[in-house]
Amino acid sequence: MIEAVKSANNEGVKTLFGSPSYPAVAVDGEDATYPVHRIFCVGRNYAEHAKEMGVEVDREAPFYFLKDAQAIVQSGSSVPYPSGTSNYHYEMELVIAIGKPVFKASADEAKAAIYGYAAGLDMTRRDLQLEARAKQRPWDLGKNFEKSAVIASIAKSATVGEIGPQRIWLSVGGIVKQDAHLADLVWSPVEIVAHLSRFYYLAPGDLIYTGTPAGVGAVVTGDQIHGEIDGLTPVTLTIGGAE
Ligand code: MN
Repeated sequence: MIEAVKSANNEGVKTLFGSPSYPAVAVDGEDATYPVHRIFCVGRNYAEHAKEMGVEVDREAPFYFLKDAQAIVQSGSSVPYPSGTSNYHYEMELVIAIGKPVFKASADEAKAAIYGYAAGLDMTRRDLQLEARAKQRPWDLGKNFEKSAVIASIAKSATVGEIGPQRIWLSVGGIVKQDAHLADLVWSPVEIVAHLSRFYYLAPGDLIYTGTPAGVGAVVTGDQIHGEIDGLTPVTLTIGGAE
């Protein structure tokens, strides 16, 4: 019997074309990089942002969407203004990097599974996301597209300390647009990892974008985005011409 599914990376497995390559993210103070497996994103995790989107935070449970690993783009890049949108938005976010396999994690297990944190941008085709939302359709066209998951280098958890007091902010062309603190997160990183691990076997290489504070907005060609979270490497992005 022919096996239907094999690992394309296994020796001796012939493939019709090159297998997809996974991006790797730099880690502060390490030569080795962090290979990205999956990208989970949390929706509406700051009350003030939920309000500006015209919805309430659901305090019963967080909700999620995903981006493909290939959506990763390195901080400092210039990306084209994406096709299919005329309302391309920044969302400044704290990113969790998972470093241990966890399933149905307790709070302690969830905490131990967090390898580190990075500053990231969940770039969004807002018009397509809102259209999908209104029609109760999936958000993929609005959220999951090439070069939409921007990330700076990862700092190990031990160097970051307790999550809460850090300021998270973003400017476009030097004008501050988002300004909050990680204490404003509705669901903390530990709570998110514990909750998400009820539904997925989280594994090293999984990133979780934890949601954005209030102040999201559109960018245009030529804009320079600069985002910071205290204690982490800043994330920057330049918006290029139409693709
Ligand atoms: Mn987001």
